[in-house]
Amino acid sequence: MSFIDFLSASPTSYHASAEIARLLSSGGFTEQAEADPWDATPGGHYVRREGAIIAYILPAEKPSGMRFHIVGTHTDSPGFKLKPHPAHTAAGWSQVGMEVYGGPLLNSWLDREFGLAGRVVLRSGEERLVATDPWLRIPQLAPHLDRSVNQSLHLDQQNHLMPVYALAGSGVDLMAAVAGAAGCDPDEIAGHDLFSYITQPPALFGAAREFLASGRLDNLSSVYPAVMALLATTPTPQTVPVVACFDHEEVGSQTRTGAAGPFLEDILARIGWGLALSQDEVCQVRARSWVVSSDAGHSVHPNYVSMFDPDEQPLMGSGPMLKVNAGQRYATDGPGEALWLAACERAGVPCQTFVSNNSVSCGTTIGPLTATRLGIPTVDIGLPIMSMHSAREMCAARDLEHLTRALTAFLAQ
Ligand code: ZN
Repeated sequence: MSFIDFLSASPTSYHASAEIARLLSSGGFTEQAEADPWDATPGGHYVRREGAIIAYILPAEKPSGMRFHIVGTHTDSPGFKLKPHPAHTAAGWSQVGMEVYGGPLLNSWLDREFGLAGRVVLRSGEERLVATDPWLRIPQLAPHLDRSVNQSLHLDQQNHLMPVYALAGSGVDLMAAVAGAAGCDPDEIAGHDLFSYITQPPALFGAAREFLASGRLDNLSSVYPAVMALLATTPTPQTVPVVACFDHEEVGSQTRTGAAGPFLEDILARIGWGLALSQDEVCQVRARSWVVSSDAGHSVHPNYVSMFDPDEQPLMGSGPMLKVNAGQRYATDGPGEALWLAACERAGVPCQTFVSNNSVSCGTTIGPLTATRLGIPTVDIGLPIMSMHSAREMCAARDLEHLTRALTAFLAQ
C-alpha cells in the first residue's frame, strides 16, 4: 500500500488505527486485546485503543542490556466534529452544527466540499466506521457583501462556519443519511464521533511532480513512515522496537488515548511483566531507552522568510528536521541530537534543524508529554510541510522515504 492509499483510507484517527492494524496484520503482527491475558510470544504484536495504536516486536527472552526504542506519533488532525444533535435550519437551508476540533486554518475549509467520517455506535454497542460522500460545504460570503474581506477576514466560529448540506425543502435528514452510510436504521444510532474530512483525493503536483497535497499530512506523514519502518525492522538483540500512534494531540493529549494518558506506560509495563523484569530492571530499561517523537514541522515559506530563524531555514525535500526549543516545547537536547544525527547518518539520509525565530513562538508535540510521563530521553523530529493545519497541506514526496529510512535505522539500532 502506498502513502497516498494510506491517506485515502485514513480520513479520521479511527480509520487510521484500523488501517495500521490491517497493515501490521498482513506483515505478520498479531493483535493483543487489552482485556485479554498478555501474549509474550516472540515477534510482532499490536494493541488498539480506539483511534490510537501501539505496535512492538517482542524478543524470545529477556535480553541483557534491554532497552526500548520508541517512535511516537499522532493520528488526529484539526477540523470540525459533529455536534450531538446537529440538525439546524436557517432561511430555507439545512445546516449542520459542528464544533471546532483543534486549531484548523479556518479559511482553508471555506468553499470546499467535504464529507463526514468517523464512527457511529449502535444501541447494541457495536461500532461502525463510516466515511460519507462530499455532503457539506461552508460557502464564503461574496466580496460584494463584505468589502473588507481581502484586508481582514474575520470568521466567527459559531456563526460563520456552519456547513450547508441541503435545501430544507429537499427533505433530507442528515442523521438518516449517516445511518444509510453506516448500513443501519437511524433509531439504532446511540452515539457518534464524526469529523469533517476532505474528499478530494491526495495528489502529486508541481512541474516536477515532487509535491504531495493532502489533508492530514500532520501527522500521517509521520505515522505511515513509522509503521513502514517497524515492518522493515529486524531488532538488535537488546532493543525492543515500539511504534506508538496516539490520538487527540491536536486537543492537548489529555485523554486515555492521548500521549498524556497511560496507554504507552501500560504497554511498556506489560512488555516488562511478560519478560519477567524486576521493578529495578524496569527502571534500568527505561534509563537506557529512547523516544523519537515524530511530528510534522514547518518548511521555510518563500513569502514569509522573516517568520523563520535567519540561519535555520529547513526546506521540504531536504530530509526530516530535528526540532529544537530552549523552552522545551520540543524535548530535544544534546544527547538527543547526537542520537538522531547518528540514525540519519546510518540511513544515508540528510537532516536539517528547526529552531524558532525568537519573535515567533513555536508549537509543541507529544515529545515533552511522553518524556514527562515516562522519564525516557526524547528527541523531537518531523517532516517539513507547508500550510500546516490547512484542510489541504503539502509536503515533498521524497521526504517520506527519507523519514522511513531514518526511523528504521533508529528502531533497528
Ligand atoms: Zn502534529
